Amino acid sequence: MIKPDALFDTQVKRIHEYKRQLLNVLHVIHLYDLIRRGDANNWVPRVVIFGGKAAPGYQMAKRIIKLINNVARVVNEDPLVGDLLKVVFIPNYRVTAMEIICPGTDLSEQISTAGKEASGTGNMKFMLNGALTIGTLDGANIEIREEVGEENFFLFGLTADEVEAQKSDYDPVAIIRGNQDFSRVMGLLEAGCFNVGEPGLFDPIIEAIKGAFDPWMTAADFVAYITAQKAVSKAFKDEEAWTRMSILNTAAAGKFSSDRTIEEYNRDIWRLTPVAPLKA
Ligand SMILES: *Cc1c(COP(=O)(O)O)cnc(C)c1O
Repeated sequence: MIKPDALFDTQVKRIHEYKRQLLNVLHVIHLYDLIRRGDANNWVPRVVIFGGKAAPGYQMAKRIIKLINNVARVVNEDPLVGDLLKVVFIPNYRVTAMEIICPGTDLSEQISTAGKEASGTGNMKFMLNGALTIGTLDGANIEIREEVGEENFFLFGLTADEVEAQKSDYDPVAIIRGNQDFSRVMGLLEAGCFNVGEPGLFDPIIEAIKGAFDPWMTAADFVAYITAQKAVSKAFKDEEAWTRMSILNTAAAGKFSSDRTIEEYNRDIWRLTPVAPLKA
């Protein structure tokens, strides 16, 4: 059962490594770990919703979908967790599904590796519908944050320049070793807690996170992401302040109108002469 007053935390979009559904799953495992170790004082109940399709030949993306579903089964069936945390994978994500998901969402996950998302449009749809965004400085997140104000946006993670600069001496194993929460999350994954009876299933995912050449730098942003998520939970407890931020998001979404976008495109790129519609 899902509590309607829980924080509805949503990531719906095509499944791709650069969009980092994996980072979101690692946070879910961290929340699960906190509950299991009895560290759930002042807990804000969350429903973490995933949705999205992977291209047919994209093995790693398919495997990430499998991980989300396996983590969901473990978390949702654990009596110790109860209503504190629920994980949902919505099958067949499409516009018809988004029409329901979007207005029901409290927190919009826009957590791509900085420099990889050209713009995104899901981020705009959620903003217009009153969700708050947790996100990186990537694509239209940058403009969303400018419009709504930094105090109404949960920013985390490396900038595109920092991603490039850190590539040469990226050491995810050292990052994991340097943080207890991260070590515990990787420990649960490596112990096979989410693939009982399916040995080795998530080894390629573990290797991708620990690989020095991970282009998506999931490990690099883990600690900052967990910290930003903590701030989200804290903010959600103040219903009046959260509602104010939600309304400000809707109110500041005007820039993302298609009229403005197309007018600008025409001015800068197409340079076409507008034609008045034919009179009936
Ligand atoms: C908006 C939308 C997208 C694009 O989402 P992004 O977060 O911008 O990648 C993809 N699929 C559907 C069904 C959508 O409604």
